[in-house]
Amino acid sequence: MALIVHKYGGTSMGSTVRFRSVAQRVAKWVRAGHQLIVVPSAMSGETNRLLGLAKELQPAWLTPESQRELDAIAATGEQVSVGLLALALQAQGVPAVSYAGWQVAIATDSAYGKARITSIDDTRVRADLAQGKVVIITGFQGVDPQGNVTTLGRGGSDTSAVAVAAALKADECLIYTDVDGVYTTDPRIVPEARRLHTISFEEMLEMASLGSKVLQTRSVEFAGKYRVPLRVLSSFTPWDIALEEEARSGTLITFEEDEKMEQAIVSGIAFNRDEAKITVMGVPDKPGIAYLILGPVADANIDIDVIIQNVSHDGKTDFSFTVHRNDYVRTMDLLTKEVLPATGAAQVMGDPKICKVSIVGIGMRSHVGVASRMFRTLAEEGINIQMISTSEIKTSVVIDEKYMELAVRALHKAFDLEQGSSAS
Ligand code: ADP
Ligand code: ASP
Ligand code: MG
Repeated sequence: MALIVHKYGGTSMGSTVRFRSVAQRVAKWVRAGHQLIVVPSAMSGETNRLLGLAKELQPAWLTPESQRELDAIAATGEQVSVGLLALALQAQGVPAVSYAGWQVAIATDSAYGKARITSIDDTRVRADLAQGKVVIITGFQGVDPQGNVTTLGRGGSDTSAVAVAAALKADECLIYTDVDGVYTTDPRIVPEARRLHTISFEEMLEMASLGSKVLQTRSVEFAGKYRVPLRVLSSFTPWDIALEEEARSGTLITFEEDEKMEQAIVSGIAFNRDEAKITVMGVPDKPGIAYLILGPVADANIDIDVIIQNVSHDGKTDFSFTVHRNDYVRTMDLLTKEVLPATGAAQVMGDPKICKVSIVGIGMRSHVGVASRMFRTLAEEGINIQMISTSEIKTSVVIDEKYMELAVRALHKAFDLEQGSSAS
């Protein structure tokens, strides 16, 4: 008997028919003798619908008070899902009980909209499991020290599931979704993308943080920190396929670098349309200037990603960086009102229509010329690179948003990632 955590995403819970199918799948695992904890997301489109309603009424600038209410509203989607799934399981004759995050409790900090899980109390869950019940826990939400409902950021049910698996020392955490694993890139953009049987934890972490939304970044961080065996697989296979077959399907996130992984120089391509570029022009090139520009941005709790400073001419330079698109207007406002007068810079220019495309692979550590192959491929497509950022196992470029799909497809081909290619 093993303790298994299943997570089901929004599209897997799109209708009562889908709830029944999920219940049948869970029941199959229970009947095979396993203990099950299930973490569902809200029904597909529900979180967007709830946030859309809130947006119609909320003030233009979010205050801490309005952020609290947004979390309380968004968290209700998952509460409906856990109740419906418990009913569907009970209808199958499987004892099941549902809990909201605060009932477990899943404790978080108070950062509304992007709260971090601090601890999970396993008492209630263990007692239910011992009584032979399937325990169903809301994804995406928790409770802060003051008893306020918090949410973990979009895609946060992945993190809830992995955190629950870590807290209860589960044998495996299975992330059921609408694709049958992690692919070399998003299969919706490149139909030739290839499913990876395994991907190293480090590569998965880079892919997720660079924009592959198949797993929320924090869920991968949790899996790494607590060594949670993690697998991504499809919830759209027939529920009655053999359990052994299902248990081996999809993509396993591994903690050891095997030989096959060593061979692939680039394992995947990630992209992110959520960023915006800002350039402060004509800044005096003197010590402390980066701090004068970026200090106020960081103080306003705005995350900065790629940064670039140009060579100076006549003692002046241009300084560019990217922020999340949601923070674009706020950052432009801050720079114009505070940073321009403080630095004596000439002007601030912004471009919210950019994207970041990244190649990821642990093989990049031991191979030279990978980045230049990326740049050559983009040059051959006539795509101008605006910014570059590298780390040991990834190279990212910032380009015009309109070339994103072209860039991803060309790079996917250039690095032999397609189905049936030599690397597969
Ligand atoms: P869920 O609702 O199950 O959480 P998500 O929409 O959050 O599902 O994540 C699954 C989606 O992630 C897929 O439908 C796919 O379009 C996208 N995706 C992006 N990059 C990848 C990738 N490298 N491999 C697989 N899917 C990816
Ligand atoms: N329902 C939440 C969202 O749409 C959490 C999740 O799906 O993981 O972001
Ligand atoms: Mg998701």
